[in-house]
Amino acid sequence: MIKIVSADFIKGAVKPEAYPSVNLPEFAFFGRSNAGKSSLINMIVNRKSLVKTGSRPGMTRQINFFTINKQFVLADLPGYGYAQRSAEENRAFDRMLTDYASLRQELKSIFFLMDMRRIPGEAESNTVEYFEKLGIEVIIVGTKADKIGKNDIVNVRKKWGEFFRRTPDLIIPTSASKNTGRDELLKRITERL
Ligand code: GDP
Repeated sequence: MIKIVSADFIKGAVKPEAYPSVNLPEFAFFGRSNAGKSSLINMIVNRKSLVKTGSRPGMTRQINFFTINKQFVLADLPGYGYAQRSAEENRAFDRMLTDYASLRQELKSIFFLMDMRRIPGEAESNTVEYFEKLGIEVIIVGTKADKIGKNDIVNVRKKWGEFFRRTPDLIIPTSASKNTGRDELLKRITERL
């Protein structure tokens, strides 16, 4: 298993011209705001606060890039689904996301995060379909698995598997609170390096 020895913030960027040119394989993390993305990233890199958690809705509107082990880049994409965003802000957000997904050559896979207590809907299926149509691999990650029981975890994986048209073993349950699922995520990254 890969050992995380360093995690360094490179920069934040909105427009493609501003993306860092590091030339390492890149993995992006994406999900609805409050899905637990910041907590999960901190768990992966073994840091308490590489990424700020519970930040004010709408605060992070840029893509934050980090180099991990000088081996790969982790891209922290802003969360979607803030009710407070204006139509204009939503357009800018969509633009940032579509630019990134369609132009970022280094991007290997997107880890798509969902709170395991949520039922995926149209927003989620559209998002996954959009990335996959661009030829980007989407890895589905269930967050806050500690909030549901063992049997529920099995059921959610089965239901999400059907919904996202993949086998249940491809739905990765995680909990940043209980520090579970980390090895599974690192395995997916390592396999793609
Ligand atoms: P983000 O908006 O997607 O970056 O989500 P955060 O990481 O900031 O987490 C949102 C909220 O969910 C915070 O109150 C976290 O403490 C909580 N949270 C995040 N991960 C977990 C988890 O694995 N288990 C539980 N029980 N709560 C979590």
